[in-house]
Amino acid sequence: MRRSSAMLSVLPDGTVEPVASVRTRLQQRLARHLRTAPALVAPDMPLVSFTFDDAPTCACTTGAAMLDDHGAKGTYYISGGLIGQRDRYWTVADDAEIAALHTNGHEIGSHTYGHAFVPGLDRAALVAESRRNRDRLRATVPGLPLESFAFPYGFGSVTAKRTLAGLYRSSRGIVPGLNVGRTDLQFLRANPLMEVWTDPARIAGLMDAALARRAWLIFYGHDVVDRPSPYGCTPGLLSAALRLAGDRGIPCVTVAEGLRRALPAPSPADRSPRPTHPTR
Ligand SMILES: [Zn+2]
Repeated sequence: MRRSSAMLSVLPDGTVEPVASVRTRLQQRLARHLRTAPALVAPDMPLVSFTFDDAPTCACTTGAAMLDDHGAKGTYYISGGLIGQRDRYWTVADDAEIAALHTNGHEIGSHTYGHAFVPGLDRAALVAESRRNRDRLRATVPGLPLESFAFPYGFGSVTAKRTLAGLYRSSRGIVPGLNVGRTDLQFLRANPLMEVWTDPARIAGLMDAALARRAWLIFYGHDVVDRPSPYGCTPGLLSAALRLAGDRGIPCVTVAEGLRRALPAPSPADRSPRPTHPTR
């Protein structure tokens, strides 16, 4: 996800500001309700995943170090075309910082290469953006597995979800809620870890709900810095979230690991190859 563009503006609760077109709203609504990759999410214990879109440097240094201190690992969804670039709100991590994330056990996930708005891409363009991003990220980390995708700006479409299902094991949106029971793996729910949208009390409430329902709770944010952008959080808020998970004994795992733990183990007869990005 990332804040706004000239054509749309997405709020962290998944709603769309008026600049979004009727078509965009309809696509998002359909993407939300028409499951294209349904699966039964039923982890043995509740899980939390912390995800950071666009990989601002501070999320990859300050944020990753905080996760490490808590024995947690995060997922960073990266647009290869933005690596090392200065944005309005932050500087995106460079190659060395991304490689260090991978070395330390954090997950590198995929956005589109140029942070393109997915519903605006046809199938061929989405595949091309994915391949280009894979190639760019593998220039940084040779052989990098890319299992997880997040929709830039949080917008998906039914068509895109079908395409992405052949490329990634999961795609994450920004529709809030818990992942449990019958779940669309190509539109995982996620909740903002953003200073202006949440606070420790809300986070505690979500974790209590995850505990009660034995669910997989995903957070998404961007920068982690004392004076964050409207799309990021302070180290204090991330620290509080990690502490709240720790107090409840909820493991903090990457999205790829969360998915492995959330899905029932396949029976031997079901062990057919799953789609993975390297095949495309
Ligand atoms: Zn983004």
